[in-house]
Amino acid sequence: METMTTIPALSSWDIYKKRPLLMTGPCSAETEEQVMATASALVKAGKVDVFRAGIWKPRTRPNSFEGVGAAGLKWLKQVKQEFGIPIGTEVATEKHVYEALKFGVDVLWVGARTTVNPFAVQEIANALQGVDVMVMVKNPINPELELWVGAIERIMKAGVSHVAAIHRGFSSYEKTAFRNQPQWQIPIDLRQRMPGLPLICDPSHIGGKRTYLADIAQEAMDLNFDGLMLETHIDPDNAWSDKQQQLTPEGLTALLDGLVLRDEDTSDSKFVSTIDELRSQIDIFDDQLLDILERRMQVAKTIGEYKKKHNITVLQTNRWQEIVNKAIRKAETKGLSHEFISVILKAIHQESIANQMKIMNEADSRA
Ligand code: PEP
Ligand code: MN
Repeated sequence: METMTTIPALSSWDIYKKRPLLMTGPCSAETEEQVMATASALVKAGKVDVFRAGIWKPRTRPNSFEGVGAAGLKWLKQVKQEFGIPIGTEVATEKHVYEALKFGVDVLWVGARTTVNPFAVQEIANALQGVDVMVMVKNPINPELELWVGAIERIMKAGVSHVAAIHRGFSSYEKTAFRNQPQWQIPIDLRQRMPGLPLICDPSHIGGKRTYLADIAQEAMDLNFDGLMLETHIDPDNAWSDKQQQLTPEGLTALLDGLVLRDEDTSDSKFVSTIDELRSQIDIFDDQLLDILERRMQVAKTIGEYKKKHNITVLQTNRWQEIVNKAIRKAETKGLSHEFISVILKAIHQESIANQMKIMNEADSRA
């Protein structure tokens, strides 16, 4: 039987403080040679803080490659010993946790298909009681913030002190260019809910194709994410899983070297006063927008009363189409995008209809 590794515990790696934290390595561990060659190239390029490799792969359909299983943990341990870097893998059951810990895995992550299931997350949390590892929780496959928060809370309640979240995008039924929709608002909301929690972006599973990865990674950096998980394989075209989205170590290096890293804040007083001045202008415009919306809604309500009195339906499709067309034409001359104006008008219209419906259905003295 394998004995507990004597390699240093998580605290001595200090990876928690590294920005951006780079979690790179193949989608799946396939063979000892593939794991060692990939790790060696990443270490040589200086592009790995945690070496990732999937050992147990949750696949959507049967008959896909489902991972090499516990056998691959030996290769991960070898990476840790040979190159002195922390290792990480996905766990989906209590048994996975025990196996991974036995081989000294430093970073465990809960996959998107597991985060959706509170029973599975709780089982993992129970197996982690009192263990000094880092646990990362991927977002659930469906766009639901509460489920993500709940899974993170379960892991935290188990006493794990190093917890992080991984944003890997959300499934949709429609076929889209990206494999999963980023829906950036959701990780931004998570950050508001759990301000100190490190947030890692996984462009590989969002993009699904190599060509999209750089833009997604840059967007994550611009949104002040703390790290990146990027699948990297010594020979992506012959990978046993996710071949279209894996980078070569050279491709990864080019991507990372091309990223523009910006500071979240600065003490430069000229910058601070300029931004303050511009922000106060934004605040004034936001106030004005609210006033205008309030006044517009008042008029919509008055129209609602009037329609009710004259027994006219709430919705007049032609009138609405006219408003939208006119606004879009005007918006174009002002450099405001079609999509933006459509979304805003739709929201305003929905609120007007909701208000008018309320008026129509109020039990009163309709003659
Ligand atoms: C993975 O990281 O290889 C993986 C399976 O990710 P996800 O859970 O995001 O699909
Ligand atoms: Mn993958």
